Amino acid sequence: MLILKNYIDGQWIDSISGKRTQKFNPANREEALCEAQASVAQDVERAMSAASQAFPAWARTPVPQRAALLQQLLEKMKANETEFVRTVTLENGKILRESRAEFQSAIKEADYQIGQGRRLGGAHVPSEQPGLLAYMTRQPLGVVSLITPWNFPLNVACRKMFPALIAGNTCVLKPSDVTPMTSALLFKLLNEAGFPRGVANFVTGRGSVIGDTLVNHPSVRAISFTGSTEVGLSIAGKVAGRSTKIQLEMGGKNPLVVLADANLERAVDAAMIGAFSCSGQWCTSTSRVIVEAPVYETVVEMLTQKAKAIAVGNGLDEAARMGPVAGPDQYESILKYIEIGKREGARLCAGGHALREGHFARGYFIAPTIFADVTSAMRIAREEIFGPVLCVMKANDFEDSVCIANETIFGLASSVFTQDLAKAQRFIEESQVGLCHVNMPTAFKEPQLEFGGIKESGRGLPEAGTTGAEFFTSHKAVYLRPLS
Ligand code: NAP
Repeated sequence: MLILKNYIDGQWIDSISGKRTQKFNPANREEALCEAQASVAQDVERAMSAASQAFPAWARTPVPQRAALLQQLLEKMKANETEFVRTVTLENGKILRESRAEFQSAIKEADYQIGQGRRLGGAHVPSEQPGLLAYMTRQPLGVVSLITPWNFPLNVACRKMFPALIAGNTCVLKPSDVTPMTSALLFKLLNEAGFPRGVANFVTGRGSVIGDTLVNHPSVRAISFTGSTEVGLSIAGKVAGRSTKIQLEMGGKNPLVVLADANLERAVDAAMIGAFSCSGQWCTSTSRVIVEAPVYETVVEMLTQKAKAIAVGNGLDEAARMGPVAGPDQYESILKYIEIGKREGARLCAGGHALREGHFARGYFIAPTIFADVTSAMRIAREEIFGPVLCVMKANDFEDSVCIANETIFGLASSVFTQDLAKAQRFIEESQVGLCHVNMPTAFKEPQLEFGGIKESGRGLPEAGTTGAEFFTSHKAVYLRPLS
């Protein structure tokens, strides 16, 4: 059995609790994958202390030297692609091609953020006074807590850790309790890359047990969290009144609008990618398809046929097109929402049940599910289901579709399918989200642009792009008179 240890101050160590928890393959709940440390507050305090001690020297280390170490880590990651991909599939359940996509995305994000180190300057501007230098500079914050979810165990960890470290901070990373293996592999390579002790620390355990210490510890200058809106907002409440910076990437209820003039084949393909990739467990998944009335029944029919044709299976099977959901909590929660949808009177067009027969018997498999005739009043239209369940809603016209799209507390991603540039432009202006697409799936992103939601989907500066590293710095305006 693989035993994962905490990585603190450059050492692999057991939790002070002396306890570990077993992790299981979501495609086969009888297959134990590893045991991870069931850490307690004292473990996090130890990691915070190591990160605090490492901070002054790391902050003084010139950016090219920090970049060289991060580049070493990146090269080691590339050399271990196969192991990363297999690990993500084993512990998360997503199919191999999705794990490969996550790996490639993580590499691109990390590569971009390493380059950002050299660009973390400020403007040098003309002063009002003769001989005075006036410029902006950025400084690292100190120790930062990085808290990641299970749905992108590699990508989200990289999207936080590379910018935090290149900007000169030291960190403590806590992965989701569901998926500790991928980040443990990342830290194994980080150790081999030769980082100074204490610069990056890794602690596993339940958020409900160690979360408060990660958030409230006096050393913590910033928290970058990705996860549910519920936990994210509780973190915001805990640090209110303190100077701790927060970057919260939270839930979504992402709409894809199909107007009557759209290329329906492309729109439906994009909706299918957005709704069922990673079993609908992307924060940017398409969870509502809003269709203009004249093409509504056609689109419902096309989606239904495609959903019924998805080959569900073990993610390790290259023929599978959708894997299991990530674990028992997810499974119960998604099936509960499917029952709610049925009770609310939505029209069940595909799926609507767990898959329990034959090779599905030991895993958390759910049939790709389509509900049509969903209205904004229904809970399945309002609450994040985070599973392979797509709600289809009818809109009277363009204005109505934008109105329905915005009728949510969330504001992460959206898309519109149309051939009318004027309507596309109005959608871009009026859609209340942090990521907007035209004739593209809702989940599309590139590393050079910021990634984050508005409304109850995000707080603080977004990740990735230029703000990815900027978040982990403080600004300072400098006025320098060379002669006293
Ligand atoms: P979650 O339950 O909120 O957990 C996220 C992380 O927070 C986990 O590491 C979790 O640890 C930890 N945590 C739990 N309670 C905590 C507490 N009291 N204090 C500090 N940390 C705590 O979310 P999830 O189920 O892992 O992920 C799914 C959610 O993430 C969805 O809502 C999805 O939309 C969102 N997400 C958003 C983005 C984005 O960029 N906007 C990206 C990916 C996912 P445990 O695992 O031990 O509970």
